[in-house]
Amino acid sequence: MDRYLCDVLVTMDGPVGGVPAPIPDGAVDVGDDGRIVWCGPAAAAPAVEPGTSVHRTGILMPGLVNAHCHTPMVLLRGAGEGLPVDRWLHEVMWPRESKLTDEDVRVGMRLGAAELLSNGITTSTEMYFWGQAMAEGATDAGLRCLVTPGVIEDPDFNVAGSWRDQIDEMVALRDRWAGNDLIRGGMSAHAAYSVSKECLSAIAERAAETRMPVHIHLAEQQWEDAAVRERSGGLAAPEYLESLGLLEGDVIAAHGVWLTAEDIDVLARNDTTVVHCPCSNAKHASGVAPLTEMRAAGLRVAIGTDGPASHHRLDLFEEMRTAIRTARTRSGDAQTLPPAEALRMTTAGAAEVLGWDAELGRLAPGCWADMVALSAAEPALNPVIADEDDPLARIVWSGSPGAISGVWVAGRKVVQDGRVLTLDVAETVADAETRARRLAR
Ligand SMILES: [Zn+2]
Repeated sequence: MDRYLCDVLVTMDGPVGGVPAPIPDGAVDVGDDGRIVWCGPAAAAPAVEPGTSVHRTGILMPGLVNAHCHTPMVLLRGAGEGLPVDRWLHEVMWPRESKLTDEDVRVGMRLGAAELLSNGITTSTEMYFWGQAMAEGATDAGLRCLVTPGVIEDPDFNVAGSWRDQIDEMVALRDRWAGNDLIRGGMSAHAAYSVSKECLSAIAERAAETRMPVHIHLAEQQWEDAAVRERSGGLAAPEYLESLGLLEGDVIAAHGVWLTAEDIDVLARNDTTVVHCPCSNAKHASGVAPLTEMRAAGLRVAIGTDGPASHHRLDLFEEMRTAIRTARTRSGDAQTLPPAEALRMTTAGAAEVLGWDAELGRLAPGCWADMVALSAAEPALNPVIADEDDPLARIVWSGSPGAISGVWVAGRKVVQDGRVLTLDVAETVADAETRARRLAR
């Protein structure tokens, strides 16, 4: 057993709009199985059992949950800077990705996982190819993942195997990793405009059969609407996916920038979840998603970094701030999206979007001890005036990967003071660089 004593304990163990107040002088007890046994004020903690290791931390909070990413794209980071998304995909990304091997994906995943963990992200939702290599790269680093291997059908894009084989492999991957606590498997289609009706229907059918979640890009770019209407006989993307039965199960729709009020209604009646990716959308000049409208319609919305080729960094602190800034700029109201709600969208709320909320996103008995400690001495988090302090606002506005003193996944320490403990990072960087150069040729 391990006991973590902290200056401030942030549990995030509450519903939307009901995030509980942080606890000063808290304690978290973690069992040898990596799950939280007890959590609350240190003064009320049970007596320390013999053999318990006691640790002291600053601000202790749940590990961040990234709800949309393509981590192995670290191998393409920075490529195609300044191009609009359609040209960026066709001219830069897809030609390079067509050369990817499974070992490239595994190495890219290892490097990206090191970055995610050092940035306090303990779980990531991954849409990419070579799912087995993704799961292996993630577990090499000790990162938790929802792995959703994706299908794209485009003449400029080539990946081994038909979409039918790829769908079979999605299910096989889920079954292969069923006994591993770090990996869950889902299904994925790139987008309504880049995958055929036949394939989308087949994914809907298999998802219904297997009860696997489906991850898809939705309404990211303004031009997608015309492309989808052309294939769908005039339907907008949400209605089109609904007509194919694809919204019946658990669907994680990334971006949702160009959604009308009717589109939001379609998503709301299907309880489709949306992942807001404000930094990627801003970098590509895609637009600003109607976050306030989606939340007002009752949609469950999480936050994602998107891939490192889209937005260079995998940093949810930056995403939370950008989400608040863009929402407030749109509304003209400084009350829009309080920091506690933004933090919920990267912790407990994100775990709900992944369907993993019984075990992740909160510090509570029974949950995995996926935790991040911020140093109380970090200059940007000070000074603190006790009777005015709002620790959640402080974390969201002033927190950063640089303030992180420790990261744990299932009670295993994976990062200490910026150093990843699970991988040889220098060796992984060198390996990734050789591979990135080959893909660029
Ligand atoms: Zn994406």
